[in-house]
Amino acid sequence: MRIDLHTHSSVSDGTESPAELLATAQAAGIDVVALTDHDTTAGWKVAEAARPPGLTVVPGMELSCRWYPGDQPPISVHVLAYLFDPLHPGFAAERVRLRDERLGRGERLVAALAAAGYPVEWAQIVERSNGGVVGRPHIARALVEAGAVPSVDDAFATLLHPRSPYYVAKIDTDVREGIALIRAAGGVPVFAHGLAVKRGRIVGDDAIVAMAEAGLLGLEVDHPDHAEADRAHLRGLAADLGLITTGSSDYHGANKTTPIGACTTDPAQFEAILAAGTGSAPFRD
Ligand code: AMP
Ligand code: FE
Ligand code: FE
Ligand code: ZN
Repeated sequence: MRIDLHTHSSVSDGTESPAELLATAQAAGIDVVALTDHDTTAGWKVAEAARPPGLTVVPGMELSCRWYPGDQPPISVHVLAYLFDPLHPGFAAERVRLRDERLGRGERLVAALAAAGYPVEWAQIVERSNGGVVGRPHIARALVEAGAVPSVDDAFATLLHPRSPYYVAKIDTDVREGIALIRAAGGVPVFAHGLAVKRGRIVGDDAIVAMAEAGLLGLEVDHPDHAEADRAHLRGLAADLGLITTGSSDYHGANKTTPIGACTTDPAQFEAILAAGTGSAPFRD
């Protein structure tokens, strides 16, 4: 059994449509794949309809959140949510707010780049997102195509990095509130890539303990951006706190170099997620 519980389609910042992504998963020999687009469930119905026989698809999402350390600026944290009720009103309203926030933030970021002479335009970025959830990867690709940076990776390391003078932060959901909303909607919250230093500042163990107290049920341990020592540390924390552990690729199609199935989840851990999720059911044979 090969289980990959974290992937993005073109409904957010991946490059493959949900149908293409499922075909990629099956061609790669994956048995279970979760579709976890940022802040939207727009791909669920398409994925259900396009699911190839034999493949199990877990409806999911990656919620953009913030952790507020006592004395420092907020830290961006992502929480994967599986098997929640997409119609839960409070959670649905928060997703709408987050997507609006992304639009305002993206427009300001692109305006700052344009004012500094970079050849990017907000209307083109919106067009590029094709009605989906806009994120920095769309801006990164526009910068690459305009010849302003050599690669998407380079764009993230320079112009789009949180320390860049052009960077604009989003006001994401307070992580405790996000976890509570996921649970209220019958979902399973799992802290995504918690120790990925490449993304920017990371939280301390105190935050992970607080998240567990707020209802977090799992930690994403095996992730392409986690070093071996990070994985060992997270595995230890999960054992101490009684949390599920997962492994996933965080596949984004051509927006990242990581192949689907690069990291996978143990079947027993997946069973624990299935047992805890009550808001929706996997799409399967
Ligand atoms: P945003 O949600 O708009 O702040 O953009 C963050 C997204 O950018 C995340 O979903 C990441 O997957 C993606 N991302 C971060 N770093 C990189 C990178 N080096 N290459 C490609 N995508 C990245
Ligand atoms: Fe992404
Ligand atoms: Fe993420
Ligand atoms: Zn992701």
